[in-house]
Amino acid sequence: MAVERTLSIIKPDATERNLTGSINSYIEKAGLRIIAQKRIRLTRKQAESFYSVHKERSFFGELVEFMISGPVVVQVLEGANAIAKYREVMGATNPANADAGTIRKDFAVDVQNNSVHGSDAPETAAQEIAFYFAGIEIVG
Ligand code: ADP
Ligand code: MG
Repeated sequence: MAVERTLSIIKPDATERNLTGSINSYIEKAGLRIIAQKRIRLTRKQAESFYSVHKERSFFGELVEFMISGPVVVQVLEGANAIAKYREVMGATNPANADAGTIRKDFAVDVQNNSVHGSDAPETAAQEIAFYFAGIEIVG
């Protein structure tokens, strides 16, 4: 299995409830290494750009408002098969459909306030890591 990197975001609903450490513990217990991390407030422009793939969806406006409603923690995770592995640890988009023991099952509020983001493919992972960590040396 290839060692990969993926982009994670701990979303405002989770930072608001002081869940950064709890979520990081799920990540580390799954064998993923947090190799970069920063707590930031997204600008509207950044949130719109990051989620531009969803701009035609009915929930786009609300999603952008949510993502700028409070601080987020953006992270790079590294490990064997990290992209799929993190999607597994996160659980389904809607926590009502998420498996037991996943981050979203245990912490998410609803389909929008679902606590975490994870890249969905190698191309998007590379783009998303560059989006938040361009020019920063990441030591794996
Ligand atoms: P995922 O984050 O699991 O990859 P998507 O890429 O489909 O899910 O959606 C991006 C984000 O948009 C979700 O994590 C969630 O915060 C929000 N979202 C998705 N579907 C809905 C919906 N039906 N209503 C409100 N927000 C949604
Ligand atoms: Mg997605």
